[in-house]
Amino acid sequence: MSTAVFLQREGYAVTVIDKVPPGEGASFGNAGGVVVSGIVPPVHAGMLLKIPGWLLDPKGPVTVHWRHLPAALPWLLAVGRNALPDRVKKITDARAQLGMRALQDHRAILAHAGASDLLEMDDGLHLYSTRRQYDDNAGWRALRAKYGYDGRELSGDEAREIEPDLTPDIYKAVFWDGWHRIVDPFEMVQKLAEQVLRDGGNIVQDEVISIDQDGTRATRLHLMNAGEQIVQNLCVCAGAWSHELARMLGSKVLLQAERGYHVIMKDPGVRLGRAVTHAAQPGAVTPHHDGIKIAGSDEIAANDAPADWRRADQMHVYGKRVLPQLRDINGTETKWMGRRPSTPDSLPVISPSPNLVNVWYGFGHGHMGLSWGPTTGRMIADMITARTSNTDPAPFLINRPM
Ligand SMILES: Cc1cc2nc3c(=O)[nH]c(=O)nc-3n(C[C@H](O)[C@H](O)[C@H](O)COP(=O)(O)OP(=O)(O)OC[C@H]3O[C@@H](n4cnc5c(N)ncnc54)[C@H](O)[C@@H]3O)c2cc1C
Repeated sequence: MSTAVFLQREGYAVTVIDKVPPGEGASFGNAGGVVVSGIVPPVHAGMLLKIPGWLLDPKGPVTVHWRHLPAALPWLLAVGRNALPDRVKKITDARAQLGMRALQDHRAILAHAGASDLLEMDDGLHLYSTRRQYDDNAGWRALRAKYGYDGRELSGDEAREIEPDLTPDIYKAVFWDGWHRIVDPFEMVQKLAEQVLRDGGNIVQDEVISIDQDGTRATRLHLMNAGEQIVQNLCVCAGAWSHELARMLGSKVLLQAERGYHVIMKDPGVRLGRAVTHAAQPGAVTPHHDGIKIAGSDEIAANDAPADWRRADQMHVYGKRVLPQLRDINGTETKWMGRRPSTPDSLPVISPSPNLVNVWYGFGHGHMGLSWGPTTGRMIADMITARTSNTDPAPFLINRPM
């Protein structure tokens, strides 16, 4: 939807085709973080050491559906390669480029859609329960500090002065120095969709099942229900399904759904004014329009495998670790599963097609698609209009080695 908005701003007539209504993909229930300082890739050497232990724990934050392992293996091996220190350095650099522009691009499209109030600028807090966790995380903090993200450190008491309901079990808390917040990501996509319609665009709810090509051009989409759609220019921004469409268009990409879960607790019984993460495991506890949302978990599984709602319940356990007075599960909470579209190098694909002159790609944002969505839209608009972008596109090309 961000890409649609930026293309309309360039004067293009835009049609968005999605098999579900706007915002009901991965963007529906993410943790809402516009994490401009989220520059270190989620998988790096320190994290790699923790993963085997997590995999052995059925309640751990990471799991692989063993039946899906053969299909996921090339992706998993590539993830391992990208955790080597020299790769992490290059990937961090590229992620920092996107982070640098993210806030400005969010502000531009939110203002255009009359939805600026959805962005909250309170900074997130990262908690450590023990000195060991804090020391283990030193490399992560040092890498972030190199890029200027060296959030202030607080004692437990100082952290609880700001957020009184936080756990007493805090060795140290550190500001993210750039974890801003969309209060409701679903509403954000809906607001952008409404703006796309107001600006004369079309939104078609249908599934693209095949794509015709003629020489170096994509010419026609075949839709499940509504027949055909002639193509002038085509942008593939299809989340965790994008590799299937890219394959139809002659580009092979390693993409895997890292499925995550959330639970939203209405009347949570505690107050929270900002996103809070904990060094013990990935995930975020964050204020939401409807209460408190706890989002995280990483399930390597097929796109269409049934959801495992026990993983959403584990999110509640995570929430209790951060906010011990969080009320118990009582059936009034909402649970959700979404598919992070993840490349093995934790960088999105923002790229022209190498073989078709009227095709562009914007997908593969993994854990960071809310943060980098608007910047992706701006970069694709730059590419289509052949304008030099102020973000170097090279690390995001579809045919880069992953
Ligand atoms: C638990 C969780 C927490 C997260 N927290 C954060 C966070 O705090 N900050 C952050 O930046 N990111 C976060 N993310 C990641 C973020 O949500 C995703 O990266 C982002 O939503 C991906 O957006 P997208 O538009 O690429 O994909 P989607 O939102 O999934 O949209 C892709 C759309 O393409 C459609 N589609 C696919 N194939 C076809 C087809 N053939 N025909 C028609 N339509 C098709 C799908 O229906 C879907 O609606 C989180 C993700 C999860 C799961």
